[in-house]
Amino acid sequence: MSHTPELVIKDLHVGIEGKEILKGLDLEVRKGEIHALMGPNGSGKSTFANTLMGHPKYEVTSGDILFKGESILEMEPDERSRAGLFMAFQYPVAIPGLTVANFLRTALNARLAPAGTNGDGAMPHKKGISPKEFRALLKERMALLKMDESWAGRYLNDGFSGGEKKRAEILQMAVLKPEIAIMDETDSGLDIDALRIVADGVNALAGPAMGVLVITHYNRILNYIKPDKVHVMVDGRIQVSGGADLALKLESQGYDWVREKQEVEKS
Ligand code: ADP
Ligand code: MG
Repeated sequence: MSHTPELVIKDLHVGIEGKEILKGLDLEVRKGEIHALMGPNGSGKSTFANTLMGHPKYEVTSGDILFKGESILEMEPDERSRAGLFMAFQYPVAIPGLTVANFLRTALNARLAPAGTNGDGAMPHKKGISPKEFRALLKERMALLKMDESWAGRYLNDGFSGGEKKRAEILQMAVLKPEIAIMDETDSGLDIDALRIVADGVNALAGPAMGVLVITHYNRILNYIKPDKVHVMVDGRIQVSGGADLALKLESQGYDWVREKQEVEKS
């Protein structure tokens, strides 16, 4: 595949409260590719994910983020989402009385909201999707993910287990059909069921129309998702990139050799 990557990160520097966390990050992700971003705790992975979605606390001090050829630095989080970038649950709250289905319909209508087109470049949805159309879409997407339809009637995040939260995230991704999806596995305590839900979902949804960036500290999830590329972040930069075998090397050798390599290059 040689088309211009949908997501291009150029020499990105990001600070939080005046402290520089990302120190020159370069990365390109295309539709149709699965990338894994790995790294030890505190290396800046979540900072990067939050910066991609436009969290106001993270200040881009230099560099750029291009999505489909345009800088998104000035775009609000909802505009980024409408453009086709996805990060699971920007608002991970339990809302009494809000079902998963209603949440998803609201999220989809927000995604389709502008007078322009939806993410597929198809017909404009000026008034959003009708309840009937939405039910059909939800049914189709839940079937694709082999989810039980009744599940969408549950109240969002109300007593959800880790696995159910992940299931809701994956379903959100399936309904919104982003071009690039970013999954930050912040919770390293995900049990095996939750891991499988995420992995099966990514595998079912990944394809020519979607690229995925899986951010993870542990490589356990990479036993179920085969990434095209693996990147290792240490101290706010990607120090090493490689194929799926790089994750295996990290499993057997840990992150120390990446850190040592970085020290050598610095000196
Ligand atoms: P990772 O996801 O790789 O574990 P993070 O991006 O969460 O790393 O953290 C990178 C560094 O940024 C850490 O030193 C952390 O303490 C700091 N940091 C992250 N988020 C915040 C925040 N909201 N306020 C202040 N410091 C933060
Ligand atoms: Mg993190």
